[in-house]
Amino acid sequence: MNAQAMQTRTAAESAARPAFGTVLAGTMAVANYRDGKWSTHELQKTAPIVISPGAHALHYGSTCFEGFKAYRWADGSINIFRMDKHIARMRQSARGLVMPEPDAAQLAAMVTAVVDRVRGEVPEAPGALYLRPMLIGTGSSIGGASMPPSEAMLIVLASPVWDYFSSGSKPLRVYVEEQSMRCAPHLGMIKTGGNYAAAMGATMAARKKHQVDQVLFCPGGEVQEAAAANFLLIRDGRILTRSLDSTFLHGVTRDSLLAIAPDLGFKVEERIFKVDEMLDWVTDGEAALSGTAAVLAGVGTLIRAGGREHKVGTGEVGPHTRRLRMALVSMQRGEVPTPAGWTTRV
Ligand SMILES: *Cc1c(COP(=O)(O)O)cnc(C)c1O
Repeated sequence: MNAQAMQTRTAAESAARPAFGTVLAGTMAVANYRDGKWSTHELQKTAPIVISPGAHALHYGSTCFEGFKAYRWADGSINIFRMDKHIARMRQSARGLVMPEPDAAQLAAMVTAVVDRVRGEVPEAPGALYLRPMLIGTGSSIGGASMPPSEAMLIVLASPVWDYFSSGSKPLRVYVEEQSMRCAPHLGMIKTGGNYAAAMGATMAARKKHQVDQVLFCPGGEVQEAAAANFLLIRDGRILTRSLDSTFLHGVTRDSLLAIAPDLGFKVEERIFKVDEMLDWVTDGEAALSGTAAVLAGVGTLIRAGGREHKVGTGEVGPHTRRLRMALVSMQRGEVPTPAGWTTRV
């Protein structure tokens, strides 16, 4: 193949596989909160929304969101993975920000209506339809710095996705950030926009200085999580991950992995642990990041301030990480039965 043909093919392939989140499905669901109640929702063509420049979210950060996936199974059906858990977390985020709480049944109806309408846009496995409910404080008063929004908009977006990390399943380079926090410690468990803005400075600095894929936040030496993924240490027969508290996001992928781990022969330990213990562990153990987008991504190298690099095991994605990932992926694809209530067929 000549160079030009190669280039064309590469261009065609990347055109067929757009980056994660860059394509929005054609339909979205919208509901509005006004005068103390939610309107009925509507399906609309995905298009710009009209809000006041005085909208609360634009000034005071009243936003939260969710991220989960619907998968096309081999029998052609579309199945949403752990929708109820994500809806419960969305409601928890809204409460944490003192925003109008979406009604669980209404949000479920919005999600399933969107999935049903765009079912033709759901990619084949390993692709999926990423679902992104979002809640924003609206209204038109810029005087609400110490008041929750009186009005809000709930939108369910969908996005066909293929691969999350552009590096595919390559082992990740991860910077160990021991100084700055990802976000305020009481908001870690809330999936709110400001947390990602708060983590951006440290993330960009580490990328520039150490060419890393991700930053693992370990304020005061306690291992927490990455900017948008939980962190697990894995080895033969054992998984160690931080115990749930308000400082980090309670991932549904983390929960799912820990739920299936005992059947795969892993003993699960949930507790606080420090950077020193993590570095001991990875001399011959494995480390991975978990989240809906990437499921479970192996860490190959940890980099500390000053640039010292610590190889995780062999530096490749380890066998236990692969096995755990495949076990969960098989459930998401409907190849293996899940615990009751984990999938919603649309
Ligand atoms: C969304 C998110 C996760 C992963 O949560 P899942 O429910 O597994 O997708 C982890 N950490 C942060 C900060 C997140 O925003």
